[in-house]
Amino acid sequence: MDKYPEFPKEKHVKKKAGWKEIPIGGMITKAGSSLLNKTGTWRAFRPIKDDSKCIHCFMCYVHCPENAIRSDGEKVKDIDLDYCKGCGICARICPVKAITMKEEAEFNE
Ligand code: SF4
Ligand code: SF4
Repeated sequence: MDKYPEFPKEKHVKKKAGWKEIPIGGMITKAGSSLLNKTGTWRAFRPIKDDSKCIHCFMCYVHCPENAIRSDGEKVKDIDLDYCKGCGICARICPVKAITMKEEAEFNE
């Protein structure tokens, strides 16, 4: 029987990482670590905001589960695509339909 090729070892994975290294209860031990989870990498739909329609009601801002909608404190600015996962909540909640969801594939062409 042929030998299977070895999988390339990823640098960030410890060689002997095991369950004993997971903090009890899966607790997060380092503040701000969620910034490393860039959920935008697996987004299938991208929200596009039409600034001419936006009335800055902040509904999208308060409902976004990823806190991906940026504001300057007075107005809603843009959407941080590093963290937007494309759930579409902002588009559904917007009272003036200023946000539309587009297929991510359209932007990769
Ligand atoms: S699509 Fe979802 S994650 Fe992205 S900005 Fe809208 S509410 Fe936030
Ligand atoms: S919900 Fe719509 S109108 Fe309100 S701030 Fe967001 S994009 Fe603008």
